[in-house]
Amino acid sequence: MPACRSATRPCCALLLLDPDSPFALRWTALFQLAPWLVRFVRQSLPGATRANAVALAGLLAEALPAWGEMEQEAGLQDLMRRNGCLYLYRRESDFAASAGGRALRAEFGVHQEVLTPQQVAVLEPRLPAIGARGLYFPDSLNVTDPGMVMRRLFDAVVARGASLAKAEISRLQAGDGGVELSGPGFRVRAKTVVIAAGARSRALAAQAGDSVPLETERGYHLEFSTEAALLNRPVCPVDLGFYMTPMAGRLRVAGTVELGGLAAPPNPRRLALLDRGVRQIFPQLGKPSSEWLGFRPSLPDSRPVIGLSRRSPGVVYAFGHGHLGLTLAPITARLVADLIAGRGDAARVAPFAADRF
Ligand SMILES: Cc1cc2nc3c(=O)[nH]c(=O)nc-3n(C[C@H](O)[C@H](O)[C@H](O)COP(=O)(O)OP(=O)(O)OC[C@H]3O[C@@H](n4cnc5c(N)ncnc54)[C@H](O)[C@@H]3O)c2cc1C
Repeated sequence: MPACRSATRPCCALLLLDPDSPFALRWTALFQLAPWLVRFVRQSLPGATRANAVALAGLLAEALPAWGEMEQEAGLQDLMRRNGCLYLYRRESDFAASAGGRALRAEFGVHQEVLTPQQVAVLEPRLPAIGARGLYFPDSLNVTDPGMVMRRLFDAVVARGASLAKAEISRLQAGDGGVELSGPGFRVRAKTVVIAAGARSRALAAQAGDSVPLETERGYHLEFSTEAALLNRPVCPVDLGFYMTPMAGRLRVAGTVELGGLAAPPNPRRLALLDRGVRQIFPQLGKPSSEWLGFRPSLPDSRPVIGLSRRSPGVVYAFGHGHLGLTLAPITARLVADLIAGRGDAARVAPFAADRF
């Protein structure tokens, strides 16, 4: 499940100027986003990029084994597809520009294979012959129905004794007697609290005493009903910045980045961009059956925040996974469980500390 990020870091400043690029900025949010953007640019310099890649690679190396364990525990086997994913380079120049990323992945031992258009056609026979090159990641796996995965996980944890209370938390107060969470009509006190509120975690972390430069990379999603699967695996045309993922009875088109905060409504122009892009490849698609805006929780260095709060005992962080939240969920859960149980290795999560900024 690698995220299709090729369109984000390189040449980001130029892409930002074009509202129809895969990486765009809502200019009305510029003032609010400026501090994050400054940090993001600094973290895009070669030395920082490398350090961030090393930190993330350490987590990613454990992501698939952790998924495998969770798959067994929660009975998810029929929802996992293990036939890799494919980047599609429609222009030689895009492929040439990906040399740095390919070299970095090779250095970290990521299994990747450069494919000719003929080899792409063998893997994806219903894909029109449009690729200059393909880049195949045979070890990648993907979930065929994320909603069903969540339902099965929920059932599995309830069967092990967990209970669910739904409420909006607006206040966190940590003290000697534990941590109190409260919101409209709700109050609970606990010895340990895990803040895993995605892109909305910043305000809660601030109440625990940690100022974390969390922003959101807004991402859009369209689905199209399909009688027969058009693809065998997720395919990302890198110049378009989205993945086309075959799901049961539908094709999901999801990706691109819009920097613009949490409050602004969905931007129809960004949905139209996905719609136009996917029709370049599959012009026969009908009207989308669903559309959605999601908020990736993103730190300027692309690393998540995982670990114990140094300022508020009893508060544990697990947020900010950006483009990799699904991929890194089980390994994050394991690290957090180890920290709470007191068997965690502090050095293991040091690169993800809340106070690293
Ligand atoms: C278009 C798109 C495509 C993506 N594709 C991939 C992919 O292919 N692979 C991948 O690994 N990742 C992908 N991601 C990223 C992934 O979806 C995120 O990283 C992930 O959802 C983050 O998980 P989370 O649990 O931290 O946050 P969320 O999924 O946002 O969950 C946070 C939860 O906290 C709740 N919450 C928030 N505030 C409060 C509050 N104050 N009180 C109570 N509850 C609260 C929310 O209601 C929500 O249920 C994609 C994202 C987008 C938008």
